[in-house]
Amino acid sequence: MPDLFSAHSVSKQYSNHKALDKVTIHVPENHIFGLLGPNGAGKTTLIRIINQIIAPDEGTLTFMGRNLQPNDIALIGYLPEERGLYKKMTVGEQSMYLAQLKGLSHHEAQKRLKYWFEKFEIKGWWNKKVEELSKGMQQKIQFLVTIIHEPKLLIFDEPFSGFDPINANMMKEEILSQKEKGATIIFSTHNMSSVEELCDDIALINRSKVVLDGSVRNIKKTFKTNTFGISYNSWDGTLNSILPAGYEILQESEDADHRHAQIKLPPDASPNDLISAMLPFVTIYSVNEKIPSMNDIFIQAVTRQTSPN
Ligand code: ADP
Repeated sequence: MPDLFSAHSVSKQYSNHKALDKVTIHVPENHIFGLLGPNGAGKTTLIRIINQIIAPDEGTLTFMGRNLQPNDIALIGYLPEERGLYKKMTVGEQSMYLAQLKGLSHHEAQKRLKYWFEKFEIKGWWNKKVEELSKGMQQKIQFLVTIIHEPKLLIFDEPFSGFDPINANMMKEEILSQKEKGATIIFSTHNMSSVEELCDDIALINRSKVVLDGSVRNIKKTFKTNTFGISYNSWDGTLNSILPAGYEILQESEDADHRHAQIKLPPDASPNDLISAMLPFVTIYSVNEKIPSMNDIFIQAVTRQTSPN
C-alpha cells in the first residue's frame, strides 16, 4: 500500500521543551495507524501539525503523494481530545452547522445526519440543548460530525477516553467500518487493548522521539521470545529433569485438571522439539505460543529507552 500520509523528520520546540524530535511516520492508505505513547510524549503536537493548527519548526509532511497543503483540511476529519460544543445550541442546530462547515449542502447535511442519528439511536436528542447531554453523549455527536463528510483521512485524538465500554465498542466498530469504506485512520491512544483490536500499524513516541514503528504483525514477531505455554498431566517426575539444556522454565502451576508451564526455548528449537522431549513422560493437553501483548511491548520499548543502559 502506498502511504496516504507521511511525516519526515518533523521537529517542534515549545519555549523550553522539545515536543517532537525528528519524528518520521508512514501511514499507508486504508490502514488504521495508532500513535502511541505515554502522556506528554508529543502525540497531540504531531496531530496538531498534521491538521495544520501549528507548524513544525522543521521537517516535511506529505499527503496523497505530494506536500500537504492548507486546503487538504477539507479531506481530513479531526476529532480533538479537548472537545467543545456550544452548550446553548440544540444538538440538531449544532450538528447541521458543523456538517455544513465541512462543505455539505443543507440538504445533504440533513440527509446524512438523519442516517447517523438513526444508526446511533439518538434521534431523541435532536432538539435537546447540548448542555443537557452527558460528556459521553456529546462525544458521540462530535464523532459523527467528524466522519460526516467522509474524509480520506480521519484523525482521532484519544477517541475512547470518556466513553463507557459499550460506547467505546461502538466507536471501535465505527472506526473499522470507516476503514472498510476506504478511509485511512490515525488515532492516538494510551489504551493498548484498542491497539490490538484496531491497528494495522503503529508508531510509539516516547520523550518526543519515535522509539518503535511498523506493522503490528511485524512488531509482535520481533518481540516474540520463542516461549510456549504447555498443559500436561500430573506425573512423578519434574520438567527440569526431562528438558534438554537451554530450555528455561519461566512458570509452573497446577490445578485440579492439569499441570501448566511456560517454557522459553532456545532460539533454534521449535515447539515440536519441546513436545518430543516431553511426550515419553506425559500426556500433553495443549500447547500455545506466548505472543507478547502490545501492552508488554509498549512497556519494554519505553523502559528500554528510559533506562541508562
Ligand atoms: P501527548 O499528546 O503525547 O500527551 P503533547 O503533544 O500534548 O503530548 O505534549 C508534549 C509536550 O509538549 C508536553 O510536555 C507538553 O507539556 C508540551 N506542550 C504541549 N503544548 C505546549 C505549548 N503550547 N507550549 C508549551 N509546551 C507545550
